[in-house]
Amino acid sequence: MKGFDFEEERIKQEIVKLGAKRVLLQLPEGLKPEGPRLAKVIERMGVVPIISADPCYGACDLATAEATRLGIDLIIHFGHAKLVKHEQVPTVYVEARATVTVAEAVEKSLPLLSSYGKIGLATTVQHVQTLDEAREILVRAGKTVVVGDAGRVNYPGQVIGCDYSNVRSVANDVDAFLFIGGGRFHALGIALSTSKPTVIADPYENTAYPINEEAKKTLKQRWACVEEAEHAKTFGVLVGLKLGQKRLDEALQIKEIAEKNGKPAFLFAIREVLPEALMEFPSVDAYVNTACPRISLEAPAKFLKPVLTVNEFMVAIGESSWENLLQKGLFED
Ligand code: SF4
Repeated sequence: MKGFDFEEERIKQEIVKLGAKRVLLQLPEGLKPEGPRLAKVIERMGVVPIISADPCYGACDLATAEATRLGIDLIIHFGHAKLVKHEQVPTVYVEARATVTVAEAVEKSLPLLSSYGKIGLATTVQHVQTLDEAREILVRAGKTVVVGDAGRVNYPGQVIGCDYSNVRSVANDVDAFLFIGGGRFHALGIALSTSKPTVIADPYENTAYPINEEAKKTLKQRWACVEEAEHAKTFGVLVGLKLGQKRLDEALQIKEIAEKNGKPAFLFAIREVLPEALMEFPSVDAYVNTACPRISLEAPAKFLKPVLTVNEFMVAIGESSWENLLQKGLFED
């Protein structure tokens, strides 16, 4: 697959350094096609590679339990920067930095940013190395550029699906954000977390476009889910089983808050939050998702019952207001 750096030499060095005999390769969906090729590179070293075929949407989903079961010496996790603090199995992160150039897409974003003077820059780990170039283009166009550096994530300006601390930390200092990267997912997160105009510069398609209409639509959908959940008699509280998504203490607190407000609540342990899994419990009227907060936001129509983020639940149960939620963010801690 062209366009990404899989750091094959570093992978080989890490395997040798650790004396690993069996390794688990974990790749996100877009990079999975590279699995067999990378496995071949490793196999030639006399090492047994096993490719994880399970979905992997973030570094929160480190496959340590699976690795332990398989007697794995080393996990090679592609496409994300380190997120989980203490790994139980030695792990190497290969961030798969993109090798595409961003200049054309950033240039194309300039007309969309013409009414804004102060621009916040953000991106995913794949493109953090391009922020300086993007900054130069914006400065040449007369903009003041700000890059936030306040999050638990690894790099200034970096965002992940559920952590927008870097952009939130500078939201009051900018008129708009420019996100560099492909797809709408992260840019939508920026718009929802900051309520600022947000433009995408997509270096894969060499295009630029705004995301704010989609953010407005998402907010309307979320408000409808919260309103529906206000009438729920019984809540289900989802406890994620993925390493970086397990928030049992928070789930227990939510159950307590629901019951204090006269609504019985049940805890559900779940690995993948899928509509068909939740359909098995017709007596539950609404769910609170303490696992990945983006799941319910991405596909509300697929779920027959409202699936709320923790912050949305606090509004539905009457412990917070929609205005507070907009300040705090739909899914921020
Ligand atoms: S919890 Fe969800 S949004 Fe956050 S890193 Fe994991 S998959 Fe991405």
